[in-house]
Amino acid sequence: MKILVLNSGSSSVKYQLFSSRDWSCLAAGAVMRIGEPAGQISARWTDAGGDHQRRDDDLAIPDHRTGLTQIFATLHDSGVLTDLGDLGAIGHRVVHGGEVFHCPTIIDDEVIEVIEAMVPLAPLHNPAHLAGIRVARALCPDVPSVAVFDTAFHLTMPRTAYRYALPEYLYKEHRVRRYGFHGTSHHYVAKQAATWLGKPLLQCNLITLHLGNGASATAIRNGHSVDTSMGLTPLEGLVMGTRSGDLDPAILFYLSKQLGLDLEALDDLLNRRSGLLGLCGVNDMREIHRLADHGDDGAELAIGVFCHRLTKYIGAYCALLGRVDALVFTGGIGENDADVRARACAGLENLGMRIDPAANRSEADGTRVISTPDSPVKLLVIPTNEELEIARQVHETLI
Ligand code: ADP
Repeated sequence: MKILVLNSGSSSVKYQLFSSRDWSCLAAGAVMRIGEPAGQISARWTDAGGDHQRRDDDLAIPDHRTGLTQIFATLHDSGVLTDLGDLGAIGHRVVHGGEVFHCPTIIDDEVIEVIEAMVPLAPLHNPAHLAGIRVARALCPDVPSVAVFDTAFHLTMPRTAYRYALPEYLYKEHRVRRYGFHGTSHHYVAKQAATWLGKPLLQCNLITLHLGNGASATAIRNGHSVDTSMGLTPLEGLVMGTRSGDLDPAILFYLSKQLGLDLEALDDLLNRRSGLLGLCGVNDMREIHRLADHGDDGAELAIGVFCHRLTKYIGAYCALLGRVDALVFTGGIGENDADVRARACAGLENLGMRIDPAANRSEADGTRVISTPDSPVKLLVIPTNEELEIARQVHETLI
């Protein structure tokens, strides 16, 4: 079966086409700058001779319908999808499934209505996903569409972890609780870790760290998420590229009174001007290391605050779990940044985490262990692959 995975944003749609025969990726790409005067489509695929091909075109993409039509045309022209009838399913990444969607769900009109009802909880993401879902269903009415939710993996959290210490009506009437995000990534690396450990996921206790532009930590007991660092929105928790993560909520009242900032300005401040960017003016961790190496104190501080917060969460999740089989690093920073990994684990020997400096510095690809052989907790680096996980979950849902 060929499965197309779509990640529809407000101004872009990313795609990957998988074959369920061997889970190879047949094609990938994106349409970008939807709605802007100058759009772009980029595509990569493997041709019939096994050679890798690439094509980038500039063209205006006024809306999601044009974008998806272009994606299907590119898949057709490159020969990877000769007929839309060849497509077994389309998987859609959906950020927010609220408390409703515990698992991947075949999309029908009713499901669309429920995703729509989640829009207030994810105003930037869910409307864009819905645009992609509606167009895909219109263009391929005979192909089943399946929604895979970022929040679903975390719905196993106990209420002691997901409730805020706020009046009950805010939860009951306004759905104010912790949901967590990056669930597909945490689930994928947890499965990979279980395979590496050689035991069923349902017997594994893990701490998974997804460290990219967005960053989150998850505590997994017996294969289930029991706590995660993101909350009602992806703003809570770890320090991120441009998001503050945890802070004293009273800062908002203070800034409102002292600087007269309104809600929009505060939202912009915390989501787009804070985190690493706020601390040192740059949000790309590679560049921050370059600056720190040249003596930039702000960059050094940014790395320090990022790692301090990370260590706190690792310690907290060790306390929650009691026994930890493995700590897993993933995401652009988690997979590539040996310095952050070393700093995050520094001083955690008493918690059973002994990093091997040479293994940590190795630039090997794929799943690798970076702890010493005698480390009670295994420290693993596992490249994430959310699109592949979505494709697999779609397949499991349909067969
Ligand atoms: P997203 O959350 O947008 O998917 P990624 O997972 O690609 O983001 O992670 C982006 C982050 O990873 C950026 O801060 C980038 O600087 C960082 N990163 C990527 N490669 C490296 C590297 N070799 N060393 C340190 N940081 C890296």
